Amino acid sequence: MLTLALLAATALDLTTEAERSGWSRTGRYDEVVRLCPAFATAYPDRVRCLVYGTTPEGRPMMALVVTSDLAHAHDRPVLLIQGGIHAGEIEGKDAIFWSLRELLAGKMAPGVLDRATLLLVPVYNVDGHERFGPNNRPNQRGPAEMGFRTTAQNLNLNRDYVKAEAPETQAMLGLWSSWAPLLLVDLHTTDGAMFEPDVAVTMEPWSMAPALEAVVAALSDAVQARLKALGHMPLAFYPTFKVEDDPTSGFAVKQLSPRFSDGYARARNRIGVLVETHSWKPYRVRVQTTHDVLAALLERAAADVGAWRAAAEAADGAGAGLGGSDVVLLTEPDATSRPIDFRGYAYEVRRSEISGASWIVYDEKRPQIWHVPLLDHELPSLTVRAPRAGWVVPAAQAALVGAKLSLHGIRFSATRSAVDVPVEAFHVAELSYEKPFEGRTRVALKGAWRAETQHLAPGSLFVPVDQPLARLALHLLDPTAPDSLAQWGYFNAVFEQKEYMEAYVLEAEARKMLARDPKLAAEFDARLKDPAFTASARERLRFFYRRHPTWDARVEVVPTFRVDRMP
Ligand SMILES: [Zn+2]
Repeated sequence: MLTLALLAATALDLTTEAERSGWSRTGRYDEVVRLCPAFATAYPDRVRCLVYGTTPEGRPMMALVVTSDLAHAHDRPVLLIQGGIHAGEIEGKDAIFWSLRELLAGKMAPGVLDRATLLLVPVYNVDGHERFGPNNRPNQRGPAEMGFRTTAQNLNLNRDYVKAEAPETQAMLGLWSSWAPLLLVDLHTTDGAMFEPDVAVTMEPWSMAPALEAVVAALSDAVQARLKALGHMPLAFYPTFKVEDDPTSGFAVKQLSPRFSDGYARARNRIGVLVETHSWKPYRVRVQTTHDVLAALLERAAADVGAWRAAAEAADGAGAGLGGSDVVLLTEPDATSRPIDFRGYAYEVRRSEISGASWIVYDEKRPQIWHVPLLDHELPSLTVRAPRAGWVVPAAQAALVGAKLSLHGIRFSATRSAVDVPVEAFHVAELSYEKPFEGRTRVALKGAWRAETQHLAPGSLFVPVDQPLARLALHLLDPTAPDSLAQWGYFNAVFEQKEYMEAYVLEAEARKMLARDPKLAAEFDARLKDPAFTASARERLRFFYRRHPTWDARVEVVPTFRVDRMP
């Protein structure tokens, strides 16, 4: 007969395939399916295993809720840590399970479980994880086999946060709605060049709610210092060369828009942390590094989580004050640079007879300091005017837009009766379709807001600006934002002209218009100074059609209107 202790040890083995293999392999997803409830069984007062969704291939999406008193799990600040959004970059999963054992044993970040609730998602892209094999990460050292970058539907979950097309994203947003995490840590492995630094931990405070900037900057400094003390060589920026394969061009920091996990957290007034271990470090080193990053973050959480929450709540409360003001949604570095000494490797640029271009060859045996520029002086690259009261969406688009808003937890209401409303409408002047991206035909557009009256049928939506998720609503509803519904191609049909005036009719109409309006004639003359315009018979005729009463008043008008007052 088995003793109880032996039974516990066999049934509740809480180690991973990665540890048992000396960090040469990583487990399959059935390991997560086993470990999640095993931790809950071993620590029934402190760990809960929950299934928060099902993947398109039918697998359970699992998360562990961990805190010192599960009865208070929802009252405490929630810290969401996720691995395997890109399933081939999988040290996050193995570091999460290792760290969890240490947290529960009081060996990591003492006190954090008394003050916060951890929400651990060992593998976010589950189906991708099970597309398992040795050849999924050609620019990475270990483990022996790993999952694939995208989902079974070939969607990149780290481009899907705003459009939320993947069932996995929709499940994850459900987790955001029910747990409202204060901080998101998204665990990755880099691609790119070869160099010495072993990890980038980025949490740029730019273009967030002002209340959060100071806590994020302080957290970043503290994590960098702690990692250095632990013997790491961390970076606070993602190391992408300004010019590909050209170390001398230096590094340009890039702020990520909310289609990315950390940008999404920022748009929700939450702290988004992107962790990228260096892909050429062996798997063992990458798991250790990820473990140490988690330790550094959670040690700070144990001390500061109360201050983080206060700052996030202040940012949420600022939604009311945004109405009518200019809000910086994104930033970009300008040309200002500062020199840094970067620990790279010696390299040589050879002429390649294969590609006919140049080929960079690194020598990992010869560390070399690169004196290169760092472009990290951020200026606003997208500033939008928040509407005084909110947005209205015509009834015809209400189902589509309402479903997206609901996924994110953005508040809105529906109008009950038909009404004429003074609005500002965005009229598209220039538009081009991009090549398909993440399964959608994106649109690049330029135009201007115009004051006008719109007739709204019952069932139109009103989205107030006075709400905690006002910034995220701006990203979705302002057509100048790169992750807006308009730019993700949800209104492409609205941009198609469906009624036409025959050219011979338009010729006659144009003559009448010129004869009765000298201002129009002057405007036309001015346009004729543009050779491209002059060369295009179609554009010359359309100049008049656009100004003619028969021009379709709805075409090229983005159906998310700004309003000064609730309709
Ligand atoms: Zn990644």
